[in-house]
Amino acid sequence: MARRMDYLPIFFKISQKQCLVVGGGDVALRKINLLLKSGAIVECIAPSFCQALLKCSADNALTLTKKTFEAVDIQNQSLLISATDNEALNAEVSRLAHDANIPVNVVDAPELSSFIMPSIVDRSPLLIAVSSGGKAPVLARIIRAKLETIVPSAYGRLAEIAGEYRGQVKSKFSHIKDRRLFWESVFSGNIAEKVFTGRIKEAKVDLERLLANTKAQELGEVYLVGAGPGDPDLLTFKALRLMQQADVVLYDRLVSDAVMELVRRDAELIYVGKKTGGQSSRQSDINKRLVELAKSGKRVCRLKGGDPFIFGRGGEEIETLSENGISFQVVPGITAASGCSTYSGIPLTHRDYSQSCRFVTAHLKDGTCDLPWGEFVAEQQTIVFYMALSGAKHLSGKLIEHGMRKNMPIALIEKGTTPEQKVYTTTLSGIPELLDKEDIHAPTLMIVGEVVKLREKLNWYAN
Ligand code: SAH
Repeated sequence: MARRMDYLPIFFKISQKQCLVVGGGDVALRKINLLLKSGAIVECIAPSFCQALLKCSADNALTLTKKTFEAVDIQNQSLLISATDNEALNAEVSRLAHDANIPVNVVDAPELSSFIMPSIVDRSPLLIAVSSGGKAPVLARIIRAKLETIVPSAYGRLAEIAGEYRGQVKSKFSHIKDRRLFWESVFSGNIAEKVFTGRIKEAKVDLERLLANTKAQELGEVYLVGAGPGDPDLLTFKALRLMQQADVVLYDRLVSDAVMELVRRDAELIYVGKKTGGQSSRQSDINKRLVELAKSGKRVCRLKGGDPFIFGRGGEEIETLSENGISFQVVPGITAASGCSTYSGIPLTHRDYSQSCRFVTAHLKDGTCDLPWGEFVAEQQTIVFYMALSGAKHLSGKLIEHGMRKNMPIALIEKGTTPEQKVYTTTLSGIPELLDKEDIHAPTLMIVGEVVKLREKLNWYAN
């Protein structure tokens, strides 16, 4: 048999009801704030009040009564909370409340309480309450914090909108099963995404269409998502949410296996990176594919290593989408420069060594590497070269030729932020020798600047 529940979880409508809080300290204040937020009319009785509570007394729904608690005070109250550090008083409030059948909570004393207060995630009108039945409040708080991170803040807005249409939906679908299907498609599809990204009007139009059943073929949506440099812990909450609801995921070799593990299990996976030894898919083919998939109604996640807008050609992909009237959203990711710098203990700026930082691609569209070399030789700056591995010798030659000092510190970071991360440090003139000696693989990032020396002190990532 299932374990008996110690409590009945309910949500109590307290709006416009008279409630009494005994105690005038910080704890009482927290409870009072909750009660006021729920629309209660609160009286607080205590011989003295903390400063913060005195400040709240401007609230019309709160009365502070300076006196000691007496039995008559519980008259006409719908709910009692005792938040004092006087055990005898707490017990007295509890006893009186039980005798009078008024719900009572004594803070931190479940044995004296007829109800206990959960930890909450407030996305009003959506409310999530977590309780350990008073056995492990810290555990409940930890779970609450986890929920806080996975429930998008806009869920409240979504619930609000659902509330507006509830009646209409009910009269249109008499069977509960049909209603459920309707709401499922609203909450996990494009309509919800539109609400999350603030496109409320569009969302309502779509919802009304869905309700009237007049919508033509539904268009899908494309999420251009930054997957970060490799460590899955560096994903954003939004990236994770979209990865887990996509029907199709297009990815390339820069997206780490650990990140791919987090994609929805039954999503279709399409690899669009380099085949072993071969050519990578043409960008125009990828752009076209995204459009076709979205047009067929799919939710498409295009996962990009790092940040889609930093050497990620994200701009080109969404340009095609926009030309085809496909809706899309872009989620930033941690770019390789940021991930590799932190995981190698090399700050990109430092008050003593570098006041600016520049991200440079060592690989231009036409395959050349024609860069403004002269600008890179100044001191007190950091240059981060992306796609630098294959042209590293050429790069070091060019920098020396244009006057960068030969002992400029250099770091090469291979597979940064992953368990296979390797960091090689050398100097500008030492690059050819390093490359001859070591077997370094892509993806590798090059950091040029005095900041590289800080690694000796600041390296923290042991993989
Ligand atoms: N949009 C990506 C960059 C794509 S260009 C971002 O914002 O990070 C590809 C280059 O990024 C690689 O050639 C390499 O220089 C760098 N790179 C990406 N991930 C990396 C990693 N985990 N470690 C080292 N370099 C990385």
